[in-house]
Amino acid sequence: MTVALAIVERDDVEAAIEAVIEAGRNASARHWVPATSGNFSVRIDDNRIAITRSGVDKGALTRTDILIQSLDAPLLPGSSAEAALHIRQYVDSPETGAIFHIHGPYSAVIGRAHASEDAIHIGGWELQKALSGVKTHETIVEVPVFANDQDVDALSQRVAARLAEPPQAERFRAPGYLLAGHGLYAWGKTPRDAARHLEAFEALFNQTMLLGSYRP
Ligand SMILES: [Zn+2]
Repeated sequence: MTVALAIVERDDVEAAIEAVIEAGRNASARHWVPATSGNFSVRIDDNRIAITRSGVDKGALTRTDILIQSLDAPLLPGSSAEAALHIRQYVDSPETGAIFHIHGPYSAVIGRAHASEDAIHIGGWELQKALSGVKTHETIVEVPVFANDQDVDALSQRVAARLAEPPQAERFRAPGYLLAGHGLYAWGKTPRDAARHLEAFEALFNQTMLLGSYRP
């Protein structure tokens, strides 16, 4: 490897690590990752990601809390069990550049409230335009819902199969899904897109729940 290439490569790794640390800090400040929950990953290149290790406070991440995981290798020691969900999606979706997972209160509750359904549908909100590809409040956004499962390999198979299917007719497939009673996975081409999607989803779920309880 030339010196120039080595520098570019190191910069890519450093940029991914810094993006993961920033994502964790922002999510923690919003109370979306209580008690060391959640996990965050950013793509480095075709075959590597930077991802949070298990059991660390996502608001106080340091470089030693971030693992450099190859997509074609076994999970590194200290990995979160949920890393399998990240890896499968990066393999299946080359355009995915970052995946962020939170246990935000509105995500956890609305997923549990719809645990017996295979998706929730959001429409009529201006904020849904914050989701990449959505151009109008009139779009009906489909957010898949999965039953929570401690068998993460089985869960990642179910998620991958579902995401490979097209959305229902006249529906826009959201860049995210819910695990019932657990939380939200959201992604984007860049860490900035994924962060915006997290924030939009939590706010949209909050608005949806407020509307459901409001009786003029
Ligand atoms: Zn989780």
